[in-house]
Order: sequence, then C-alpha cells, then structure tokens
Amino acid sequence: MQNVDYIIVGDGYAALFFAHQLTKNKKSFVIFSDGKKSASQISAGIVNPVVLKKFTTFWLAQEQLDFLKISLNEIEKYTGENYLIDASIHRIFHDENEQKLWLKKSQTEELYNFLNKDFRHLEAVKNDFNTGIVKQSARLNVQGFFSDLMKFHENNSQLIKEKFNYHQLNISESTYQDIKFKNVIFCEGMAVKNNPYFSDIQVIPNKGHHIRVRLSKPIPQNITIKKKHFLFPLNEDLYFYGGTYDREQMHAHIDDSAVEQLRIGLSEFYSNDFDIEEVHFGFRPTVKDRRPILGRHAEHKNLYVFNGLGARGILNGCYFSKNLYDFIENNIDLPHEISLDRF
Ligand SMILES: Cc1cc2nc3c(=O)[nH]c(=O)nc-3n(C[C@H](O)[C@H](O)[C@H](O)COP(=O)(O)OP(=O)(O)OC[C@H]3O[C@@H](n4cnc5c(N)ncnc54)[C@H](O)[C@@H]3O)c2cc1C
Repeated sequence: MQNVDYIIVGDGYAALFFAHQLTKNKKSFVIFSDGKKSASQISAGIVNPVVLKKFTTFWLAQEQLDFLKISLNEIEKYTGENYLIDASIHRIFHDENEQKLWLKKSQTEELYNFLNKDFRHLEAVKNDFNTGIVKQSARLNVQGFFSDLMKFHENNSQLIKEKFNYHQLNISESTYQDIKFKNVIFCEGMAVKNNPYFSDIQVIPNKGHHIRVRLSKPIPQNITIKKKHFLFPLNEDLYFYGGTYDREQMHAHIDDSAVEQLRIGLSEFYSNDFDIEEVHFGFRPTVKDRRPILGRHAEHKNLYVFNGLGARGILNGCYFSKNLYDFIENNIDLPHEISLDRF
C-alpha cells in the first residue's frame, strides 16, 4: 500500500497550482491525469487584470497578480524555467468613445495601476483609434508550463496517467486501489459533472475555440493584440487567435460557426492573408457570480473540490490554491465569496 497525503484528480490549472502548494509544503501526493487535453492546455495563457469590454477590474486582481509572480518564481526553482512572458495586452479601440472611457478610467484609483493613459499606434494591424496598453498584463507559456510540470511530477513518481475511477474509491477506509490517502482534491474542470460527490456544484460550461494561424506578414513578437479576441505569436511561424465564448453548443467537436467567427474577427484588423492551421476547443467551468468554488464535502470530510475557475484559470487557480491548502492544513476558513457553502 502506498501512503500519500493527497490524491489530486485532474491535471489543469487547478490541479497543478494546488500541487505546487503541496510541493512547497513537502506533502506527498499523486495526480491522476486522464490524458485528455484540458481546457487549461488549450487556453491562451493571458494574465490580465482588466475586463476589456467595460474597462473594469475584479476582486483581488492586484493580489492575484502578485501571488502569481511569487508562485511562478517558486516553480522556477524546481523546473528551471519561468513561464511568465512579458507581453502586454494592446487593446484596439473601436472608436473615440472607447478612448475617452479608457482615459477617464485610467485616472480612477481602481484602474490607475492597470490602464496606461498613453495610447500606442501599431503598424502591423488596423487600429485607426490606436491601442490602450494594459499595465501588468502578461502571458503564460502554456505549453512549457504543462509539459515541464507534468514531466517533473512524472519523474517524482507523482503522476498516474489514468482516469480516476470513482467506484474504486473507498471513502471510509481512505483508500483508492492500493493507495492510502488523507484527502482527495477533485480538480476536474467540467468533468466534475461525472463526479458522484460533487456533480451538483453550480458550474456552467462555456465552450471556447481558438485557431492557430500562419500569417503572411508577421506582427510584433513581444505584445498581445486584442480586439474581439487575442492575437499573439506562439513561435516564429504560428500565431494564436481566440477564444470564443459559447453557452449553447455543448457537443464535443469543433463548431464551424466558431471558426468562422474567428476568421472574420481576425480579418477585421489583420488585412493580410492568413491560413488556419489548427482549431482547438475546450470548456471553461464558469460560475454565475464569476468566483471559483472551493470546499469540503458536507458528509465525507476527506473529499474536496476546486473548480469554477471560469475565464481566469491562471489567476484564480494560482491564488485560490493557497486558500484551499490553508483551509485543509491550517484550519483557516475559506472566504465566503469562494466557498462551496455560499450556494
Ligand atoms: C479557448 C479558451 C481560452 C482560454 N484562455 C484563458 C486565458 O488566456 N487565461 C486564463 O487564465 N484562462 C483561460 N481560459 C480558461 C481556463 O482554461 C479555465 O479556467 C481552466 O482551464 C480551468 O481549469 P481546471 O483545472 O479547473 O479544469 P481543466 O483545465 O478542464 O482540467 C481538468 C482536467 O482534469 C481531467 N480529468 C477530469 N476528470 C478526471 C478523472 N476522473 N481522472 C483523471 N483526469 C480527469 C480532465 O480531462 C482535464 O484534463 C481559457 C479557456 C478556453 C476554453
């Protein structure tokens, strides 16, 4: 029998940031990964403190940014890489009214640290009203983050490349097959709907597509351009453009309408030819009040859920993993805003 402090079910941002808390605190654990490309792995990796439709910010944005930097520095100590890319978001303005609104907001206490009041014109794309730069925005190297961390956990015999089978969980004995555990943390994203213990948590799927495109004329490498969606380089050849939002289409294959939406969206500000090379999609686990859901099962005290990361998997996953750790190990109550008990 193998003894571990934790079993983590899932391998997206929730799982890997919680695993970081465990690594840091020298807890033993295994991660179950079913090998499916998670929503996290197809995400854009944008780290952004601003809601770019309305130019507002959100709860704990600065704290989340600061904590992400600290955590990625800690992770760098054991993977040898820092995955934060210094590439700020340049938001293309639609008209003069947007410029005015941005300027006004950039002078408020809430947004002063996030909205740069000096506009910038970009040569490579259509931006008749220039762009506004989001201060402190960045990008995560998503591919590097996942491939290195999975390798790290595999090398430490912490990765089990199998689907976790709920029927083999013996809660009263705290065992799963030949593993004896103290706690199980379910970080399954939308697959939580198959989990007999937490299937009723109030997460709503929001399907997102992105395309990988080959541009006939390159755009600057060190920025992220945002109009309807985000455009940025993945490497010298391929660029990422996405992602869409869709609450209706829930089937597990590509929606042509989403691809068309992306094609049109990109043509609106990139006037040169481009080829769509790849299409990817995933399901964001969203919550009505836009806050994650963390907590302990009402009856089974060794089962926990970490879900509802929504459209901000990186910031939410990183920051709130510590709340969950402190709740379990240090008996510190979860903030009501993110607690499972708020529903
Ligand atoms: C197109 C798109 C773009 C996005 N862009 C961004 C962005 O730029 N920035 C940002 O912060 N967020 C972004 N997001 C949101 C982000 O991806 C999500 O918030 C995040 O992926 C949710 O992470 P998670 O760990 O909860 O779930 P997931 O990423 O879905 O991970 C759960 C994993 O657990 C596995 N799993 C489930 N059940 C089991 C089981 N029984 N056994 C083993 N494994 C299991 C699943 O297969 C899956 O791989 C984007 C999302 C989409 C769709």
